Amino acid sequence: MIFQNLWKGARRGAGEPSTPVFAALPWTSEMTHAQIGSRPSLPDVPWFPPYAWRGLEKFRPRVIAGPRPSLRKLCRHVRAGNLDYSFLDTAVYCLTHVGERPLTNDFRDELWDVFGLPLFELFVGGDGQVLARECEAHDGWHVNESAAEFTKLAGEPHLVMTRKGARGRRFEAMGVGFSGDVTAEPCHCGLENPRLINLPTEELWQ
Ligand SMILES: [Zn+2]
Repeated sequence: MIFQNLWKGARRGAGEPSTPVFAALPWTSEMTHAQIGSRPSLPDVPWFPPYAWRGLEKFRPRVIAGPRPSLRKLCRHVRAGNLDYSFLDTAVYCLTHVGERPLTNDFRDELWDVFGLPLFELFVGGDGQVLARECEAHDGWHVNESAAEFTKLAGEPHLVMTRKGARGRRFEAMGVGFSGDVTAEPCHCGLENPRLINLPTEELWQ
């Protein structure tokens, strides 16, 4: 199972069932991974700006992460035969920044057509903190509870996020700009972190 690394840090004694432990970034340092984009988003993840994509062929990341515009551009390069992407064999991660809406099904389909790899979404703050990430079973986004809390106001469809800082600091709550629900129901993937579900997957104007 390629995502056993999601469970890194799980401690268990002999005979105890393993307890998945949430890791904001779902890959280990042993797995080559890279991020693309006009600027680095994720701390400590090797970054390849657009002018350096040739370097990807040398670095050969098995996992790639990037914001939507960069992934679109990567798709175009691959389709045009400008880039050998055979090194990518594990997953593609789309970085959805605060202020953006979740990925649409159309773009998911496009990425699948090009790469044929599992696609997951990371919801990322401006500081690169992963606030929530798509479930391994594609059943919503698991919340990184050390970084954020999501709630809903009664009668309002939109999710509200409160960022958390060091030493218990909580920042002002803000609407994320899209609808959804928060659930603590058990998840098929085994993680117990709350999940954001019923997220929009269509273009805003549809
Ligand atoms: Zn899950």
